Amino acid sequence: MKRKVLSMVLATSMVAATLVGCGGGSSETAAPAADAPAAEAEAPAAEAEAPAAEAEAEAPAADAAAPSGNKVGVAMPTKDLQRWNQDGSNMQSELEAAGYEVDLQYASNDVATQVSQIENMINGGCSVLVIASIDGESLTTVLEGAKSAGIPVIAYDRLIKNTDAVSYYATFDNYKVGQTQGQYIVDTLDLDNAEGPFNMEITGGSPDDNNATFFYNGAMDVLKPYMDAGKIVVPSGQIEFATVGTPAWSTETAQSRMENILSSNYSDGTKLDICLCSNDSTALGVENALAANYTGDYPVVTGQDCDIANVKNMIDGKQSMSVFKDTRTLASQVVKMVGQILKGEKVEVNDTETYDNGTGVIPSYLCEPVFADVNNYKELLIDSGYYAESDLQ
Ligand code: BGC
Repeated sequence: MKRKVLSMVLATSMVAATLVGCGGGSSETAAPAADAPAAEAEAPAAEAEAPAAEAEAEAPAADAAAPSGNKVGVAMPTKDLQRWNQDGSNMQSELEAAGYEVDLQYASNDVATQVSQIENMINGGCSVLVIASIDGESLTTVLEGAKSAGIPVIAYDRLIKNTDAVSYYATFDNYKVGQTQGQYIVDTLDLDNAEGPFNMEITGGSPDDNNATFFYNGAMDVLKPYMDAGKIVVPSGQIEFATVGTPAWSTETAQSRMENILSSNYSDGTKLDICLCSNDSTALGVENALAANYTGDYPVVTGQDCDIANVKNMIDGKQSMSVFKDTRTLASQVVKMVGQILKGEKVEVNDTETYDNGTGVIPSYLCEPVFADVNNYKELLIDSGYYAESDLQ
């Protein structure tokens, strides 16, 4: 029933929502560097200034009734990957700047730890939970507690499945991330004109992460026609998502799998032209394997996140591209959503079709990803203040 009310509200809100990426990209210039949560001026308060009268009238009463406090729980999966540290610190600084108290927790990629952190947030008086899950299917029980306490949940970056406790989802357009990687390969190798065939190996993401199949499908939908036409071949024969996935997005696992692929298929001098890697942590493993076990011309290697180690490799010619998902932008959008929920305002979303979590479509806000490579990284990453030049040396 709650979902019904919500979807009526959201159908209306879709009209007003724009499809331009979080904050239309305009907040990027003023945003703080990931590791410098200083810029209080960045607080998204300005957005909250415009509680349009009709938005208030349309506010989903069922949802708005519960939250009233000021404390926000932010559950992040791990500190091991650079991006989640940035996400966590961006969320914390932006929420604090907007006047909220924050309970920020990292769970060392351990599901039981994340569950108990969420329990503590529920019992500790949080009014909204923002959760980047480790395993999107393991939070059903703990989130029953959030639901019965009337605490709205925003799924952050990764969809949380099989629970109707999730009110909203904020992420980057995950399918587009994959498409961007695939298109980069098509353009770089001029696949429409070049004869080929080109040899490709695929490294996917973690099977327990809902995003991983979106990335994979986005890339494969672009590349499949070239595979069908014989322009791209996969010498290892490992093509299906089930065979290319990398549990926990582990660099080491990606590396050892690639070492095996190289020794079984490329040790006779066969050229490897393309490494489709779903993200930067897996790309790093593949690059390590290439460095130690492959002497041919360097393949096109894709990635995602613009992690510092990978941008350095990009500058050194060891990685061709990464998809840039500005974590500041996602954090700003989520902070805005938190404010809208707590004030009982209409919550801004721009997608009400794509992400069904098993209990229905979760109203979502999708930010725009863009590709970064050696030609544009300075503008995207340094001029925007995401990194300092010295970070990349
Ligand atoms: C995120 C990626 C990240 C990966 C590994 C995914 O859910 O969307 O940005 O590289 O998890 O942490």
